Amino acid sequence: MVKTISICGGGPAGLALARSLSGKGLDICVIERQNHESLSSPPPDGREIALTYRSMAALKELGAWNRIPSDEAYSLAEAQVFDGQSPLALAFDPQGGKAARLGSLVSNHHIRRSLFESVSERSDIHLMTGRSVTGVVTDNRSARVTLDDEQVLDSDLVVAADSRFSAVRGMLGIPARMHRLGKSMLVGRVAIEIDHGHVATEWFDHGQTLALLPLGPGQASAVVTLADGEAERLATLSPEAQGAELTRRYHGRFGAMTMAGPLHRYPLTTAYAQHFAGTRAALVGDAAVGMHPVTAHGFNLGLASTQRLSKLVTSALRRSGDPGSAMMLRRYEMGHRAESWPLYRATNMIVSLYTDDRPISRSLRKAGLRAARMPMARHLVSHLLMQEA
Ligand SMILES: Cc1cc2nc3c(=O)[nH]c(=O)nc-3n(C[C@H](O)[C@H](O)[C@H](O)COP(=O)(O)OP(=O)(O)OC[C@H]3O[C@@H](n4cnc5c(N)ncnc54)[C@H](O)[C@@H]3O)c2cc1C
Repeated sequence: MVKTISICGGGPAGLALARSLSGKGLDICVIERQNHESLSSPPPDGREIALTYRSMAALKELGAWNRIPSDEAYSLAEAQVFDGQSPLALAFDPQGGKAARLGSLVSNHHIRRSLFESVSERSDIHLMTGRSVTGVVTDNRSARVTLDDEQVLDSDLVVAADSRFSAVRGMLGIPARMHRLGKSMLVGRVAIEIDHGHVATEWFDHGQTLALLPLGPGQASAVVTLADGEAERLATLSPEAQGAELTRRYHGRFGAMTMAGPLHRYPLTTAYAQHFAGTRAALVGDAAVGMHPVTAHGFNLGLASTQRLSKLVTSALRRSGDPGSAMMLRRYEMGHRAESWPLYRATNMIVSLYTDDRPISRSLRKAGLRAARMPMARHLVSHLLMQEA
């Protein structure tokens, strides 16, 4: 009998997992509450995703990378970090200049569309759009998924890929450490007057964190993190007033900034699930680990979780014919924890150290920046960004 896997959520993680499981003799259902059109032609959402070499390689393998227009993948040559107005900067370059770039910046909607296209041509993947998962019950024999139209899917494995606010995680009885930060990240495309040189820059400033991500010539993505109320005010200004305020907040470093698209607001919440697996169940993407976007690793880590799970499911199928084997799920849990926990902790430490304006934190981050300037530390960070599959 054909074994089945139900993936709850057709975001980038859910689609990537479905595509990498395709062709293994499984029946794969992806349940997504958005309608077919929002999945096939996702609108721009302001997110420019910094992809590592490993993620680019994974997207190539999934047949998604070649569907992204080549002029929409922007080169990320270097990253610089500044502590407020201080000249003390930290620069990450591609392994001391041996490779051409640190990674690439690609708009989230291009990633989503390309994954959708690569999934929709596979006959073993059934996309069930416009439906929500309302119940999940698992036991040693099966995972039963109920949809909002009362349809029931009996599967051998259920996967939660339904965002950091995952309801399926809750249905499985898996708690998560959620942290609502009281801050929002505003992201939007801007035209700039002074060239970015393909360098991503980040400033941890008093009461705000600013970043500028390089796109095409004279074009960049402005990323501004502010207290929720302040962010809401800025998001509702006219484009002209937003441009003027961004020019002022960035101290005119890029000349006048003019809005080239709307500012999208993301209230920041981090999440870390207590377990990444249960009986005939696994968590991938943000449903497992919802990272703070400041280190640009959420999707990269989510994609790595789907690759890990897919490899383990494939070898479990070969060995025992069971894609929901308990031993395989334990290995998934251990592997993903070992990869994600140090990154999650380090990111949260950076966030709390750099966004705390007390004098003690200011001296600590100066010392931290000095330590990170050591060649070994810089090499480690560049290596992390450039790691290949
Ligand atoms: C401003 C910003 C910038 C970022 N920049 C980067 C970056 O540079 N690099 C990087 O690696 N990451 C970045 N990220 C993180 C990245 O966007 C996320 O990690 C990624 O989108 C998570 O994908 P996902 O598929 O796990 O979850 P989601 O994208 O949240 O998708 C979940 C899907 O599940 C569906 N769903 C939810 N509940 C149900 C239900 N009950 N039934 C059916 N379907 C359901 C939803 O409709 C949705 O389509 C950034 C995030 C933000 C906010």
